[in-house]
Formats: sequence, structure tokens, C-alpha cells
Amino acid sequence: MNEVDVAIVGAGAAGLSLAARLTDPAHGPAAPSVALVDPGPSTGPGPRTWCFWEPEGGAYDEAASAVWRRLRVVAADGTVVEGDPAPFRYKMLRSDRFEELLGSWFAGRPRLRRVTAAVTAVEDLPGGAAVHGIAPGGGAVSLRSRWVFDSRPLPALPPARTTLLQHFRGWFVRAGHDAFDPGAATLMDFRTPQPAHGLSFGYVLPWSAREALVEYTEFSRAPLEEHEYEAALAHYTGEVLGLGPFSVTGTEQGVVPMTDGSFPRRAGRHVFRIGSAGGATRPSTGYTFSAVQRQAAAIEAACLAGRVPVPPRPHRLRHHVMDAVLLRALDTGRVEGAAYFERLFRNNPLPRLLRFLDGASGPREEAAIGFSTPVAPMLHTLAELPLLRRTPAEPTTGRAGVPPR
Ligand SMILES: Cc1cc2nc3c(=O)[nH]c(=O)nc-3n(C[C@H](O)[C@H](O)[C@H](O)COP(=O)(O)OP(=O)(O)OC[C@H]3O[C@@H](n4cnc5c(N)ncnc54)[C@H](O)[C@@H]3O)c2cc1C
Repeated sequence: MNEVDVAIVGAGAAGLSLAARLTDPAHGPAAPSVALVDPGPSTGPGPRTWCFWEPEGGAYDEAASAVWRRLRVVAADGTVVEGDPAPFRYKMLRSDRFEELLGSWFAGRPRLRRVTAAVTAVEDLPGGAAVHGIAPGGGAVSLRSRWVFDSRPLPALPPARTTLLQHFRGWFVRAGHDAFDPGAATLMDFRTPQPAHGLSFGYVLPWSAREALVEYTEFSRAPLEEHEYEAALAHYTGEVLGLGPFSVTGTEQGVVPMTDGSFPRRAGRHVFRIGSAGGATRPSTGYTFSAVQRQAAAIEAACLAGRVPVPPRPHRLRHHVMDAVLLRALDTGRVEGAAYFERLFRNNPLPRLLRFLDGASGPREEAAIGFSTPVAPMLHTLAELPLLRRTPAEPTTGRAGVPPR
């Protein structure tokens, strides 16, 4: 059985980010030895587009496909709320470019070993843990490590008071004429027909005047059939955006759970969960990538300091409560989703909202955000939360990603 200091299970956003930090050459001989175990691209979730915000000069900038300095929200009546997120920039990272960049870093790092295997079991042992899996040829693989960080998707979501899904399908479009403003990303465009339950919006990420990723997204209880997303995208691109003739060069589809359930970060004395499986997804938005980076940085610091590297809570408790209130208010229909988000963006400077979503806001900023929402239904929902039981979530169709065609 091979021995390493750290075994990371899953080479997605969380596994790759953690491996990159732990094996940073700046650590010199203090860097732990790391095994990164993943079944490989043929069984992985497929390419995805990750967006997040951070100040200029981020670690993965050279892999970013686009960066925006203006962000927009469009109300149902077409009113545009636009702002500068400075000091943040909104960045788009394709997962395949991210993997390529980190792969090039890893090539010069002898402390990192990549193991191609589907992990079948992680065993917590006295003084460490063992990871067992099956290699592509069918052979058994086992390795022993001091710590294991497991990012495999959970078989089921945790029990929750509210479980919604952020589900979406996007088209990579090439328009026949200049149709986009490449300087601005549209986070939410509420000119889509609103569903009976939850909310829907368009999401537009243009990187040239003619090319963009255009998505139709819903926050609701169940995903749509593919033909329903296609119809919604045809309506949004044709009737709402008025794109005229265009071609679809790729598609992307996904389901991200929005839940107030709690995700255990510890699965044993030496086994921890990271990434989406460790609760990194922000319940109110589905954004995960930044929390994954914060988690990786904290684990790196704990490992180097010789502490037990329990991943920190990805989101502060009070933010979790605020998100739980919002999810419940949306699910019960007590607040109307499109109007709620439009008002939130209209009444708060963008950097304040972005800091809040990254867990970096202070109580005063949060009070201002709270008072910019419909206060009575939110307080009613807050008062109700302690009385609600957490129940098992309905099974979802998983976090599917459809590779570009
Ligand atoms: C289409 C899509 C778009 C998204 N866009 C955004 C976005 O714009 N911004 C944002 O912040 N978040 C976004 N998210 C949410 C989130 O950031 C991503 O899902 C992100 O990939 C989560 O990282 P992760 O490492 O937890 O999971 P993943 O990246 O899914 O990684 C899990 C890894 O586990 C591996 N694995 C699975 N089974 C095994 C096994 N048995 N043994 C070993 N390894 C295994 C898989 O191969 C995979 O590499 C998006 C999600 C989807 C689905």
C-alpha cells in the first residue's frame, strides 16, 4: 500500500485547487506529499464554465476566458440596473482550461502523484486513512495517507427545511451581427416568463460582440426536460434578446442544489469532505468556486502548521440563516423572486452584495442588505424557521454537465 501525507479524492474544482495549494513549490520541503485520485475525464462530469469574482491579479487569471468590469440585472419591464463591481472583476473560467493550467503546474511538482482510479471506499484508521479504488483496467488500487479530502458527489442531499434546485441550460452562441456588449455580463434578466413556482432568468456572458454563453436558469423544485430548456432558450434569444440569425456552437447544462441542509465536513477522524460535497455551494446563489478557494487556503494553512486540517465552515452561520430565510420565502411564494432580486441589486452597491456573497461583509452592510428586501415576509419566515423540521430532500437528477457539442 502506498503512503502519502494527503490523499485527495476527485480532481474537480475542489480537488485540483487543494492539490495546487498543498504542493506549491513555495512550501519547499514542508510541502506534504499528495496523491490526487480521480477516475479520469471519460467518467468525469464534463466541461463546465465557472464564474466567480475576485480583485484583479488572481491565481488562475491566465486561464480565464473572459473578465467583466460591468455587471447587469434586467427587471421584468426591461429596466437595466448596471454597476461596476470594483474592486472585484467577474471572471469566467472554463473547467478544461483550468485543468490544463493546473496540469502544467503539477508537471514540475514531484510531491504530487496523480492516480487514475474510481474510489470505492475511504476507510478511517487509527493514525490515518486508506483509500480503495478500481483502476481503468479493473485492477484494485489502495493507498494509505495521514489525511483524506473527499470531493466525490454525495449520494443524497442532506435533510433540509428547504431544498430548491438551480437548474439551467446554456447555448454558446455565435450571432450573425454585433449583438452583445462584451464589456458587461448580465447576471439576471427577468424578462423570461416566470414559472408558477420559483423564478427564472436569462444569464448572458458575452466575450465578443458576436459570441456569448446565453443561459436559461430556474430556481425551483425540479429540473425541466431538455426540450423545455430548448424552448425557453429559443424564446429568450429570439423574442427577448432579438439576436436574429445565430448558430449554437456548444451547450452546457447543470443542476446545482440550493439547500439549507447542513453538510458534514468531517467523515472520520482523518477523513474530510471538501467542495460541493462539503457544503461549499452558497445556498442562495449556487456559486461555489470562491468558497472552494477559501476552503483550500485554510486547509493548506492548517496542514503546514501541523494542525488537524478540518475544513472551515464554507459560509458563516448568520449568512446560512439569511440564505435559509430567502430559500423558504421563495419556496412558499411569500416573496416574488424576480422582484426580490431586482430590488436587491437596485438598492445595494454591487461590491456590498458581492462581499456579502463571499462572506466578507460586516453586520452593518448586512443590515443594509436586509432592509433592502421586503422586511415583513422575511421576518415572518425568520420567526418560522425554528419550528420547521428538516426532511430528506427529493432525489435530484444530479449535477449533470453536458459537454459542448
Ligand atoms: C454546469 C455547471 C456550471 C456551474 N457554474 C458555476 C459557476 O459559474 N460558478 C460557481 O461558483 N459554481 C458553479 N457551479 C457549481 C460548482 O462550482 C461546480 O459544480 C464545481 O465543479 C464544484 O467543485 P467540486 O470539486 O466540489 O465538484 P466537481 O468539480 O464536480 O468534482 C468532483 C470530482 O469527483 C470526481 N469523482 C466522482 N466520483 C469519483 C470516484 N468514485 N472516485 C474518484 N473521484 C470521483 C469527479 O470525476 C470530479 O472530478 C456549476 C456547476 C455546474 C454543474
